[in-house]
Amino acid sequence: MKYAIPAWDLPSVPVAGSDLAFPVRHIYCVGRNYAEHAKEMGGDAAKEPPFFFTKPADAIVPVVPPSVADVHYPLATRNYHHEIELVVAIGARGSVVAPERAEALIFGYAVGLDMTRRDLQHAMREIKRPWDIGKSFAEAAPIGPIHRVAEVGHPKRGRIALEVNGAIRQQGDLADMIWDVPHMLHFLAQYYELLPGDLVFTGTPAGVGAVVAGDELVGRIESLGELRIRIVAPQGP
Ligand code: MN
Repeated sequence: MKYAIPAWDLPSVPVAGSDLAFPVRHIYCVGRNYAEHAKEMGGDAAKEPPFFFTKPADAIVPVVPPSVADVHYPLATRNYHHEIELVVAIGARGSVVAPERAEALIFGYAVGLDMTRRDLQHAMREIKRPWDIGKSFAEAAPIGPIHRVAEVGHPKRGRIALEVNGAIRQQGDLADMIWDVPHMLHFLAQYYELLPGDLVFTGTPAGVGAVVAGDELVGRIESLGELRIRIVAPQGP
């Protein structure tokens, strides 16, 4: 017996200024890529090579402004955190790519949230087990429309910020990344062949913190617009 998933059920992200959708294949995330955030997590990332973790493609929650998406408070946590991030959408196949050639793989950029069950992440870290349970769960990756390189170029600087209920929680500049996007892709592509449909979450600036049901989050990146979500009560049985 052969099973197939209809193409229209695949997780996908709208492409800004078009009727197109970007089907999501795999989500990679880089850890500790802004020095001030690395410090608040108890490290000094500047001395370390980048490291990566993943989320399932179906963690995507596509949000098209001016819509506000409902995101359910996840199961089994008491410390659910926001991490605002620049997201890179891969549009070409590549492995073992030199940093100077890495931008050629990029289809576009978006505003994303790497939502995190921080208590579970830290509990697993303490006992040296994988953190998947803290990072990979339903609705863990809200994302705004993908802006094509032809429209926005390759953003290398610009404000990245997150407000919760109108108050600024996270604020930084893309120029403050420890590993810039070309070097990050260069590292990643030594371990994985990058393919169209891959997303790369590029790390978060300082100021991560907890949210609860009822909170409204607005993430913004200069030149990429905004992403709005509302945290709602956990999904019932
Ligand atoms: Mn993150």
